Amino acid sequence: MKNFTYTLFFIILGCTPETILEEVYVYVEVPVEVEPEEPTVEELRDTYYNGEFNGADYYEYFKIFMWEAKNYGLDLDYTLEYPIIIEPRTHQNPNWVAWAKERDNDKKIHIGINTELFFSVSRSNRARLYIMFHEFGHDILNLPHFSTNSCSNITHLMNPCGRNDIGVDEFKQLVKELFEGL
Ligand SMILES: [Zn+2]
Repeated sequence: MKNFTYTLFFIILGCTPETILEEVYVYVEVPVEVEPEEPTVEELRDTYYNGEFNGADYYEYFKIFMWEAKNYGLDLDYTLEYPIIIEPRTHQNPNWVAWAKERDNDKKIHIGINTELFFSVSRSNRARLYIMFHEFGHDILNLPHFSTNSCSNITHLMNPCGRNDIGVDEFKQLVKELFEGL
């Protein structure tokens, strides 16, 4: 919201035209309704990567992924024609937080979630978003794991190690490299 200051400037002249008897300046703050500016991509990116979204809604992760793909020139709207299922599931490997069940099927997105691990108190919305970007990387982008990295030196989002400690800037960089490396 911007305020515009209108300065009203009154000069009250005296009775005689030659003499200024008094000058009165009146400043009036007039609030003006201005349409809020649309946030920039970078501002929205900061919002999302700071975890400021409804992390309990699985489809928020999908929407952010699709939005970010578009920012990097990738139109994945064809996926909207197919079923997109993100749901709590039980996997035989109890250590898996999430998994792309239909990674070989381009006509269905199906992500299973171990809700106990996914919503563990030590995991922030940002760390959840990181996991979901990884899973969409499998399911939508058909990417395999980049297993040459070790868990102590993760340099690719498709590394299978989870990253609860992922920072905003590092996350942004990994996403940029993910999309630009396709
Ligand atoms: Zn994976």
